[in-house]
Amino acid sequence: MENKQLHFLAKISDILIKDVDTAELSGDLKEALKNYTALKDIKLYVYDITSNTLRNCIQNWSVIDDNEEVIYKAYEEIQEHDFVINSKAYKLPAVISEITLKINSLFMPIVKDEKVFGLIELEFEAETSINMEFLFLMKIFAAQVSLKLQNIVLNEQSKINVEFHDSMKNIAKIIETQYELNYIVPLIGEMLDRFISDHLIYVFLKQDGEFNLVWPKACKDERIFEALKQLTPETEYLLTNNDKIGAFPLTSEGEITGCIVARSTLDTLSKRDISYLEQLTRQSAITIDRANAYSKVLQYATLDALTNLNNRRQFEVRLKQEIATTKRQSNPLCAMMIDIDFFKKVNDTYGHASGDAVLRKVAAIIKEQLRESDIPSRYGGEEFAILLPFTHIEEAKIVGERLRKAVEVTPIPIDNQSINVTISMGLAEFKQEESGEELFARADKALYEAKETGRNRVIISNE
Ligand code: GH3
Ligand code: MG
Ligand code: MG
Repeated sequence: MENKQLHFLAKISDILIKDVDTAELSGDLKEALKNYTALKDIKLYVYDITSNTLRNCIQNWSVIDDNEEVIYKAYEEIQEHDFVINSKAYKLPAVISEITLKINSLFMPIVKDEKVFGLIELEFEAETSINMEFLFLMKIFAAQVSLKLQNIVLNEQSKINVEFHDSMKNIAKIIETQYELNYIVPLIGEMLDRFISDHLIYVFLKQDGEFNLVWPKACKDERIFEALKQLTPETEYLLTNNDKIGAFPLTSEGEITGCIVARSTLDTLSKRDISYLEQLTRQSAITIDRANAYSKVLQYATLDALTNLNNRRQFEVRLKQEIATTKRQSNPLCAMMIDIDFFKKVNDTYGHASGDAVLRKVAAIIKEQLRESDIPSRYGGEEFAILLPFTHIEEAKIVGERLRKAVEVTPIPIDNQSINVTISMGLAEFKQEESGEELFARADKALYEAKETGRNRVIISNE
């Protein structure tokens, strides 16, 4: 071999041992090839069996359109040949002959275990001629690049797969301690959003025959609502607007219970996206279904499963009873609304299992600080509603401050460390003419003020 060829091969070896992604790899290869021959451009394609398409590995794995016939044809012919030169397929002859060829384009296979899984395309400057020796060299080049791409593709693919399976597992797992749809649906939405990052995700639940948006807060795209109208229980999924919007119904026992919608402003949904969304939708439907079943069972429960305080339902029952008693006997009664400060951050930083541990601990502190006659409930999420019978507002304030401090100073063990959280609180004393809801609405307003004015504080309703 000539010096120049050896140089080229040495350069290629250097490139292939570097830890790079496909874009960097092609840039380096292009430079090496340009030093060696009159190359214009290099492209790398990998066949994706999930979507049955070729993908451009250099440009974000974008799908090669069906109408790029030259590329698909080359991919077909390269299965049985070594090269496609100027659209004609060749096998490398066993003996180097003296033939030279004028070349515009050259396709070579990317191979794994003797199977073709992609293409290298080289584009040449006009009037470039090559000989058989060059083709031999390119055969070595293609084999080397194949090995490198195998590694990169496997890595990128398995990264996606790991993320996908994590999302699936997480969706399945949420339900272990949670059954409130208001809580789990946003979690599912967030998870899908993170996984299908090129598209906006919307989650709708069907309530009283209507699709209600539960994640995110707003949906202004009328086309989505149009798509929802077209769904029937038989719909597997529905693609509209040139495949930029996909609606994946959530079904349970043959009925639509909701819908997950993926929408993009730029990209169409690929077959791969669709396949992932179908599986994630199925898993979400199961999770939501189980949450529904669970909450039906829990209709008869009085305690919240996570904190062991009264649940919301029991809170309503006890509130009615206490208001009735108070009205009858003219006893004082106070309402306390508590909300953990920056609780979302706890979840985001330490995970939802740790968030649950914090909720349990705060509930325990609340119980510890109250009297036997006080009635603490988990109002929802990270909010607690407490009834203080036979209590005037001055006393309630003392109890509230004590409780606020106790939470502030108690380290809560999670994993291998401990954290501190704070709570904000609103207080209101019952007025004879008002209802239970009005009483707690005033406490809630005071709580809002406690949040607005800096958190970790107790505010008394001024109404
Ligand atoms: P603020 O100080 O304004 O109250 O901020 P915040 O982050 O506490 O308030 P926000 O209402 O934004 O977040 C409440 C979070 O509580 C969001 C929700 O995911 C989480 N949450 C609700 N219920 C549960 C639960 O049962 N377990 C866990 N781990 N998190 C929950
Ligand atoms: Mg809250
Ligand atoms: Mg909060």
